[in-house]
Amino acid sequence: MGLFDAPEPIGVEIKGHALHCVICRHPRFHRHKIKLDRAGLFTSDWSDPMAVSYECAYCGYLHWFMPQ
Ligand SMILES: [Zn+2]
Repeated sequence: MGLFDAPEPIGVEIKGHALHCVICRHPRFHRHKIKLDRAGLFTSDWSDPMAVSYECAYCGYLHWFMPQ
């Protein structure tokens, strides 16, 4: 029993490319879905304010992606 009940980190593929951490090249990530705050954004066609971030399981660096 650990302090955190997080699932196992996963391998991530972006448009056919395996994602490696830009800092430490680690290939495993924890996935987070984040609801962005619209306040302060000047675009009016911001239809889906959900972003996905992959947190490097080794160093914790966050890699952000917008849905396409
Ligand atoms: Zn890393």
